[in-house]
Amino acid sequence: MAKKLRFQSPTGMHDILPEEQYYFQRINKVSEHIAGFYDFKKIDTPILEDAELFSRGVGLSTDIVQKQMYVLKTRGGDFLALRPECTAPIVRSFLQHGMFNLPQPVKLWYFGPFFRAEHPQAGRYRQFWQVGFEILEEKSSVVDAQMIQIFYNILQELRLKNLIVEVNSIGDSQCRPYYKKLLTSYLKVRESALCLDCKRRFRKNPLRVLDCKDEKCQQIKSQAPQILDHLCDECNHHFKEVLEFLDELELPYRLNSHLVRGLDYYTKTVFEIFSDVNPDKKNAANGSQVNEGMTSLAMGGGGRYDALAKLIGGRDVAAVGGAMGVERIIQAMKARRIKFAEEASAQIFIAQLGNLAKRKSLKILEEFRKEKITAAETFGKDSLKFQLNKANKLGVRYVLILGQKEALEKTILIKDMISGKQDTVKLDKIVDEIKKRLKRR
Ligand code: ATP
Ligand code: MG
Repeated sequence: MAKKLRFQSPTGMHDILPEEQYYFQRINKVSEHIAGFYDFKKIDTPILEDAELFSRGVGLSTDIVQKQMYVLKTRGGDFLALRPECTAPIVRSFLQHGMFNLPQPVKLWYFGPFFRAEHPQAGRYRQFWQVGFEILEEKSSVVDAQMIQIFYNILQELRLKNLIVEVNSIGDSQCRPYYKKLLTSYLKVRESALCLDCKRRFRKNPLRVLDCKDEKCQQIKSQAPQILDHLCDECNHHFKEVLEFLDELELPYRLNSHLVRGLDYYTKTVFEIFSDVNPDKKNAANGSQVNEGMTSLAMGGGGRYDALAKLIGGRDVAAVGGAMGVERIIQAMKARRIKFAEEASAQIFIAQLGNLAKRKSLKILEEFRKEKITAAETFGKDSLKFQLNKANKLGVRYVLILGQKEALEKTILIKDMISGKQDTVKLDKIVDEIKKRLKRR
């Protein structure tokens, strides 16, 4: 067995190798396109933020803050956290830059790396990428439905099929406290049967128990009281409207009255989108059983967070948003064997033979670049056979051959790889000639 190298990427953090970049680029491009259509503007926030932004915003009792946040102390004694998510940073930025003075709503999107000290497993990393969307200063329920539609559209455009949208409402500060009480009394008599984490969650925030993936807790939660039965009039009305909009959009969704999400800042609407990745296998990582024999993978989720801005900046900003995991989307695309055509390969290949020819080839390559004609070469190799083989593999239409004789006569040979026809052209006319031929096709 090969000796293990001294240096490896940190546990749970991975290199994004060139072959993986295609997937990242595709997801970024599709998201950018859809963001443009719905008039979202791109935002980037720092990788590090004041740690308190998350303990206040995301919530002290959440797994993210309790167990998953990387915090470092600066030399000046400040505590900074590697951002575990982007909603709190975006609200921070919104308030800091007075974006409440802009025409409302403000629509922002992002694509970047996030950090959570999780137990690494398939599809669960310590550094992972998210693409997310936020609509700020808008309380209408119509944008809740639009947000879900945007996520759905991106996944569909990436050709993921069998998407499952789950929605719920978790109420607000008017109705949730009462529901919390109900849930607490329900859980209290069952506390001993809860998993270790949930025993802690139960005390800090009983709603968290509904988010647990442990089988024992899942059973307990299936019988738990449902928040939908206890929403106040306002939340009830808001949620009813969201569902009506989703019906109008003909977006297939299902109610999951126990969906709560892992962050404390949500109010009213919450949602999650799954893709079934393994119709014939039951044991995919991170899966939650949705149907007999079908395993699904959480692509993303989000919800409304009307109370967040107040928590971190003392100002009410009604808002809704969500994020999707880029590696998760890639995992689902791979599981469904979704491939896409590689970027357009070279249009021509420049082969050279001899020193003088090599020197002149360098210059010609630059001329093609200026004319935006993609040209491939292997200037480091001298064998003509090798070069022609390579040109063949790339499937280019025209190969230009510059030998010693041509270099002296200031000409170059064009070989049409389809007809096999060869022509000699003046070296200073070659770019025009290729332009003409490419245009003709
Ligand atoms: P999960 O329940 O899978 O832990 P979450 O509720 O923590 O997800 P969010 O914080 O809402 O997830 O993040 C949105 C999406 O980001 C998730 O649906 C998932 O696709 C992705 N994601 C979250 N944590 C990770 C991680 N550690 N590695 C890779 N992707 C992740
Ligand atoms: Mg999580």
